[in-house]
Formats: sequence, structure tokens, C-alpha cells
Amino acid sequence: MGYSYSFSCSKCGYNQQLYEGWRFMDHDHTVRECLKSPLIKLHHMTRKKIIELSKTNKNLHIKTEYRIFRCHNCSQISDKLVVQVFSDDQLLHETKFRCATCQTGLKHTNIHSLKYAICPKCKSNKFRKEKELVLWN
Ligand SMILES: [Zn+2]
Ligand SMILES: [Zn+2]
Repeated sequence: MGYSYSFSCSKCGYNQQLYEGWRFMDHDHTVRECLKSPLIKLHHMTRKKIIELSKTNKNLHIKTEYRIFRCHNCSQISDKLVVQVFSDDQLLHETKFRCATCQTGLKHTNIHSLKYAICPKCKSNKFRKEKELVLWN
């Protein structure tokens, strides 16, 4: 299941839709499915890592999920497709992200405790969560 959050800036009116969850696709994948699926947009480094890991691990299992991040340095928010590679229950690899604006390493943000963010357009701190929608798969 996925959630969609609508953010809008009360200063300049800018709107942004952010996603969290599994968004129109299955949560669990085999390596083959994951590398072939047009819905899973893998970063080329992630793709390389998965292929590399699959050479030495037979039972790889991949989880994909959208998560929302807020940069603790510049307070801008974004949603990213997090890819986790497991061998049985052991986590071998997880995508790491950097803020597109200031390059700080990003940590997952709890959207429910998020009070405000910085508007990507006018840079005011009036960028707030308005609506929350549940997307059915
Ligand atoms: Zn704004
Ligand atoms: Zn930043």
C-alpha cells in the first residue's frame, strides 16, 4: 500500500506531491524481476551492485519502497525509491541518498511528525502538509 502526501506553500502557492510506500507495484521482487521491471527505476550504481551481489548469493531478494526524506541541513523534502537487497534475512545493501541541493546525507523522515519543510521554490518555511491520500494497489 502507498500513501500520497500533498504539500503546499502558503507563501508562493507551490505544490508538491510526495509518495511513501509501495506505489503501484509489488513490494518484494526476485533479482530477475527487479532488473527487468520498467516500473523500478534503478540507479545505475544500484543495478551494478545487485548484479555483483547476485553472482555470489543465490537467494537474493529485493524490496523496494518509496520513502520521504527531509534534509536536516537545508530542510527540503523529497521522496526516493529505496532499494534493499537481502540474502535470506540479512540486509546486504540499501540505497543511500544525498540531498540534491546541499549534498548532505539523507535519513528517513517520519512524515507524521514533520512540522514544516522549506519550499523548493521560494525557500520560505511555509511549506506544509495539506492532504494525505491512501493509494490502493
Ligand atoms: Zn513557496
Ligand atoms: Zn539539503
